Amino acid sequence: MSANQDPVNDIAGFDTDAVRAGNYRSEQGEHSEALFLTSSFVFKSAAEAAARFGGSEPGNIYSRFTNPTVRGFEQRLAALEGGERCVATASGMAAILAMVLGLLKAGDEVVASQSLFGTTNVLFDKYAGKFGIKTRFVPLADLSAWQAAITPATRLFFVESPSNPLGELVDIAALSDIAHAHGVLLAVDNCFCTPALQRPLALGADLVIHSATKYLDGQGRCLGGAVVGPHALLEEIYGVVRTCGPSLSPFNAWVFLKGLETLRLRMDAHAASALRLATWLEAQPEVAAVHYPGLASHPQHALAARQQRGFGGVLSFEVRPRDGETARDAAWRFIDATRILSITANLGDTKSTVTHPGTTTHGRLSPEAKAAARISDGLIRIAVGLEDIDDLIADCARGLRG
Ligand SMILES: *Cc1c(COP(=O)(O)O)cnc(C)c1O
Repeated sequence: MSANQDPVNDIAGFDTDAVRAGNYRSEQGEHSEALFLTSSFVFKSAAEAAARFGGSEPGNIYSRFTNPTVRGFEQRLAALEGGERCVATASGMAAILAMVLGLLKAGDEVVASQSLFGTTNVLFDKYAGKFGIKTRFVPLADLSAWQAAITPATRLFFVESPSNPLGELVDIAALSDIAHAHGVLLAVDNCFCTPALQRPLALGADLVIHSATKYLDGQGRCLGGAVVGPHALLEEIYGVVRTCGPSLSPFNAWVFLKGLETLRLRMDAHAASALRLATWLEAQPEVAAVHYPGLASHPQHALAARQQRGFGGVLSFEVRPRDGETARDAAWRFIDATRILSITANLGDTKSTVTHPGTTTHGRLSPEAKAAARISDGLIRIAVGLEDIDDLIADCARGLRG
């Protein structure tokens, strides 16, 4: 194999890795990444089968745990996040579950932020709780609360920064210092920024979690997830995927591989449009508040500018209710009056989406958990897509005046 046929890993700059890292070329010489849509692999002999299963010979066995297209996606994402290894999973939730099963056991404790993707909150609180793993929820940005929540049983800190849907941040470097001083691991869900805008491992995090369903695909097609981090931790998580089976489909991995090639270009475009829309919304009399880390009015704007390369594509805001109208009705009125925005809970798509978190993504939270996460009845989230920004502003004007 000549040097330029070797799979490349973390060879160069971000954009070069995004199109070339993890690119295996078969003997057919294809230029674009091949899709190995096969559940199993054939051995040349019984002895080769035995050697592969026994681990004495590397190679593919079965696509639950060895597939070249999935491996290519893992290597490319590992390169972009600056991690040693990546394990891909069937969804973002499967990535979090694989991490929990791989690294924690009954009696261990987790500290997580109150403002999490709603389903993540349920995974830790209800399902991990069922198996004796206790999670304490603390305010995302309050470092002293993280410190105070640590007990001798604490093994993991889990955060999203920026958070969904309020765009709150935590100082990742400072939080990792607190974690490491107590032998605790820090995992960061990097779904909102992606490595194009934020690299948590370089800031001190131990693990990065992805819902590839969002920006890594970027076009709203496939479910997938990933965990990135050091070999020793990822080996445990790989064991869970191999044994318990929340594996990524090779087809989805192929879609994500191609999605990563345009990731930075798309993230820069999402972020530029989100800033313009947030700035416009903030100037409208019908809008009570706008939450977007790119606005100078955001309480953590300076931290966002320091910690992230850009401010991301998601913003949220509250519409002032009219006389006699509830906050929820005002939010629903806005949503129903728009004509371009898609009413869907997804985000990270080329198409802009609008969501009412209080009755959808965060609808399963208890009233107390909702209040702690500051999900008000009037809150609306927009994930800004790649349409013309002037059309999106006109659509939001329709929403406000509808
Ligand atoms: C969507 C999402 C998840 C879950 O990912 P799935 O691919 O839907 O399972 C986790 N975290 C965040 C921040 C998300 O937005």
